[in-house]
Amino acid sequence: MKTALVIWSGISWLAIASYLAKSGYKVKLYEKNNQFWWRASLLKERWYTFDMGPSWYLMPEVFEEFFAHFWKKTIDYYESEKLNPAYRVFFWKNDFVDVSSNVKENIKLFESLEVWAWEKLVEYIEIAQQEYNLAIGTLIKKNYDSITDLISLKGLKFIAKIKNLWSYESYVKKYFSSPKLQKILLYTAVFLWGSPKNTPALYSLINHCDFNDGVYFPKGWINAITRAFVSLAEELWVEMFTNSEVKKIIIESGKTKWILLESWEVLWDVVVSSGDYHYADQVLIDPEYRQFTPKKWDSMTLSPSWFLLYLWINKKIPQLQHHTLFFDPDWDNHFDSIYTEKNLCETPSYYVSCVSKTDPSVAPVWHEAVFIFVPTAPWLSLSEWEKKEYADHIISRISEAIWEDISSNVVLQKIYTGDNFTHDYFSFKWNALGLAHTLGQTLTLRPKNKHPKVSWLYFTGHYTTPWTGMPMVLLSSKLVLDKILSN
Ligand SMILES: Cc1cc2nc3c(=O)[nH]c(=O)nc-3n(C[C@H](O)[C@H](O)[C@H](O)COP(=O)(O)OP(=O)(O)OC[C@H]3O[C@@H](n4cnc5c(N)ncnc54)[C@H](O)[C@@H]3O)c2cc1C
Repeated sequence: MKTALVIWSGISWLAIASYLAKSGYKVKLYEKNNQFWWRASLLKERWYTFDMGPSWYLMPEVFEEFFAHFWKKTIDYYESEKLNPAYRVFFWKNDFVDVSSNVKENIKLFESLEVWAWEKLVEYIEIAQQEYNLAIGTLIKKNYDSITDLISLKGLKFIAKIKNLWSYESYVKKYFSSPKLQKILLYTAVFLWGSPKNTPALYSLINHCDFNDGVYFPKGWINAITRAFVSLAEELWVEMFTNSEVKKIIIESGKTKWILLESWEVLWDVVVSSGDYHYADQVLIDPEYRQFTPKKWDSMTLSPSWFLLYLWINKKIPQLQHHTLFFDPDWDNHFDSIYTEKNLCETPSYYVSCVSKTDPSVAPVWHEAVFIFVPTAPWLSLSEWEKKEYADHIISRISEAIWEDISSNVVLQKIYTGDNFTHDYFSFKWNALGLAHTLGQTLTLRPKNKHPKVSWLYFTGHYTTPWTGMPMVLLSSKLVLDKILSN
């Protein structure tokens, strides 16, 4: 029996561990922190519960497809419900709209904000749906090792479409002149991939997910997904260890040989690594096997980092929905701060998760568990005092927007910033979500999922193909499985 070692237990590693176990491998998995998939771990304190990281459950069909590989369904592990409204968007003081999980409602909403916008929305999301079906249904489910691999594809037609080479922002502006509608359509780029000015329009296919499919919430929080993946891996006899940091991948004669843990070494046939690809490449692997120079790494565009604020609130806030987005009128300043000036933005756009709206068990009665995500520049060093001051600033921005001062209702707060990402995951330059999605960092142009010089060393996760976010890194593990099985 071949042995496989999966280091770092993110969702993509938990997935590849189960895939390999089902394919007959004996699999072990090591996680450095004290909970599996630390990025989606739980923060529980004083009768409040928070998901530490991901909060949007988009593309549920990708999760369904994963479990179907094992003759299972997601419902065997967790239930999910459609949120309606899907999310609320604040444009400024008490000026907000609700985006529905029902497409007809959204058509009405668009028409109320711009004349004939309903017609344009219908066309826009129809194109998004067609491209989604092509891209997610076929294109990104294959491995492309070079540009020439892409050339033989009908997918090339898709990538080369002039529209897809535009920036996401210019594409949306072609359709809608209302800044409010533009912001609604661009929100995923803002929070996950990078500036909409640099993100190619091909990613507009994501608008199909929330506009046509709606936004879901797994009961038991996002952490229910972690528990589901861990249970499946256990059923397949994957051996899993927490508090086990991988210190070195030892390569001999171009093949992975040993994995060095705290005080012992293990010998394996196949090693699947990643998470922070930069850390694996520059620290875990010896210099002669590194794929990129430090200069090359420095030239890559990273996704933003995050200023995260968990708030224990001792009252209900009716102005918030389960998901609420706050877009500042000074939209450009937000991106200039992150990507050009690299400072903390005074007028940021940010996202607030309030799970207690849907699941009252996460906070005491009449209280709210509020989790705020503010994208920031990567590599932004802040003193404890600066962090506290910025947290106060964000709370006052929300208070202004919702027309209610909540500062005196915060009974406890926890701040988590870029330096925590590096401490917890060795994130390169403190980024939160891997490589940004610029045109030059798309599909085959992302770091490879199989090491070009070392046999049996693979990478999954949000630096490699296809892209960032839970469903996509889940697909990244299927791509690696295909490579391992065809080796
Ligand atoms: C704040 C935040 C919010 C997000 N929101 C969403 C969202 O709403 N929806 C969505 O789809 N996506 C979201 N994402 C993105 C999503 O979380 C990531 O794309 C996904 O978690 C990446 O998964 P991964 O498998 O690459 O592993 P990661 O999540 O990167 O996990 C890597 C794991 O490896 C461990 N590890 C690291 N180094 C070592 C080592 N040397 N030895 C052993 N273990 C190690 C870490 O502790 C961690 O558990 C969010 C991310 C963040 C940070």
